Amino acid sequence: MIIIMRPNASQRAIDKVTKQVEAAGLQVHLSKGDEVTIIGVVGDKSKLHRSNIEISEGVDKIVQVTESYKLVNKKFHPEDSTVTVKDTQIGPDTFTVMAGPCAIESHDQLLSCAEEVKKAGATVLRGGAFKPRTSPYSFQGLEEEGLQYMEEAGRTTGLATICEVTSLRALDMAARYVDMLQIGARNMQNFELLKEVGRSGLPVMLKRGLAATVDEWLNAAEYIISEGNEHIVLCERGIRTYETATRNTLDISAVPVIRSKSHLPIIVDPSHATGVRAYVEPLAKAAAAVGADGLMIEVHPCPECASSDGPQSLTFDQFAKLMADLKPYVELAGRR
Ligand code: PEP
Ligand code: MN
Repeated sequence: MIIIMRPNASQRAIDKVTKQVEAAGLQVHLSKGDEVTIIGVVGDKSKLHRSNIEISEGVDKIVQVTESYKLVNKKFHPEDSTVTVKDTQIGPDTFTVMAGPCAIESHDQLLSCAEEVKKAGATVLRGGAFKPRTSPYSFQGLEEEGLQYMEEAGRTTGLATICEVTSLRALDMAARYVDMLQIGARNMQNFELLKEVGRSGLPVMLKRGLAATVDEWLNAAEYIISEGNEHIVLCERGIRTYETATRNTLDISAVPVIRSKSHLPIIVDPSHATGVRAYVEPLAKAAAAVGADGLMIEVHPCPECASSDGPQSLTFDQFAKLMADLKPYVELAGRR
């Protein structure tokens, strides 16, 4: 439920309604716009006397939020959120590119990626140190050694860094080295992990599950925000469909759908969505045109030598070309 205050409601009136709600044992989340303040209410509404609130000073109206996700809901927070990661702002005015290898493989591989993606205009370095692989015999990641390279790459280039965490152990370790945590598609509904990531307070990128609906995805984000962490970026990375020409099917419509339902930023990962290098650039342009807040792109110094996701990884030259060709699309979308 949300309580919409009148445009001229005084702070005293807002405080009074807040106290009324809290006295009934419910939680209050304030969203202050330029003119209107919205008071979001979470908890057992049967304890609240709605009619008493309705007649309180400064209250315009009460609206029921029927969706099960509340704090990530646009109704609770009508203005689009911006998530800050180091010096990068991910949000409605910007177009943020995160790039780097699928997996951190060596010091030189990661550091060369960092230099090159920075030169081309990326501001966040990605790289997996814990790899959720389909087969247990595939490369599982360098873990702490990889995180140390990440920390060094972030420090020497100034790039923000992001790494996927697949367990509580990985989370504790990664939190010491990187600026942003990634929850991968396979863990989107690992609710214990989501709660811990919420408690960490670090910025989080939450990828859409392999077969998750938008509602399930937003409920997963609600797990993180309900622990007090609102620094969440969503990432559309393709979903499973009957189509086999691409690794997954990029649900480009998820971008405007999320925009209409949530205030959280959303970026697109055309690398995992397609699994095919040649399709990354056209879909990156589509993401910019459709209103995404950024991209995540896999880049490798030698894609044919990569220990994972080589076929979808761009070379440094291909990435630089993509970034240059993307510019007019980003400008047309009115973003920096
Ligand atoms: C990744 O980003 O490296 C990854 C494993 O992606 P996803 O969770 O989308 O498959
Ligand atoms: Mn990958």
